[in-house]
Amino acid sequence: MLNLTKLPTMTEKAQLLQAQFLLRSLNLPLDTLLSRLLPHVRLSSSNSNWYRLSKSSLWRQCQATADSITRRSIRQMSLKLRNETLARHRAAPSHTLLTHCRPTVCIDPILWLPMTQCERSRCLRWRLGWLPSDYSTVCPLHPNRSLTKSHAIQCLRMHHRLMMLETIDDPLSFLLNLLPTRRPKPTSKGTPWTIRWPATCTILFELDFLQH
Ligand SMILES: [Zn+2]
Repeated sequence: MLNLTKLPTMTEKAQLLQAQFLLRSLNLPLDTLLSRLLPHVRLSSSNSNWYRLSKSSLWRQCQATADSITRRSIRQMSLKLRNETLARHRAAPSHTLLTHCRPTVCIDPILWLPMTQCERSRCLRWRLGWLPSDYSTVCPLHPNRSLTKSHAIQCLRMHHRLMMLETIDDPLSFLLNLLPTRRPKPTSKGTPWTIRWPATCTILFELDFLQH
């Protein structure tokens, strides 16, 4: 769940550093050794590390789209590629938790918005699929049912309490995805949260209670 913290994978980070190295090598003073060697190492016949690094998807995308490559354009392209990768993963049936997270790469506000430690813990555990934790726990209110996420949504009447349409599969995740990604301004936009945020915290508290 690196997407919660906007952290790249090791491969993505390596490609970013490689692209920055290639950019630096293209802007070296003319009397440096690497600058003198560039006409040779840029050829495919040289079989050089420089040539191999230039075949990374990030560097090729930067070359294809930007007139002049800069550190800024490299970072922007890297973020664009990470968003595309996230979209592919969200579309895959094996990433069910990811489909309920935000569709773009950003720091999830549940990590930094003001709330108590317990509330943040419950929000994170809901995101990570740890609350409810596993399918072996029985719902104390319905002893013949397992405390799964779908049962918890029905059992705690989340749609009704959060004032969400029944067509939304996971109303709690849907609401968490609507939390502001920047510090909210004192406008009327924050008004709906005065009702829904306490309801969200109460639902997660009850769910935590049912699980234990
Ligand atoms: Zn129940």
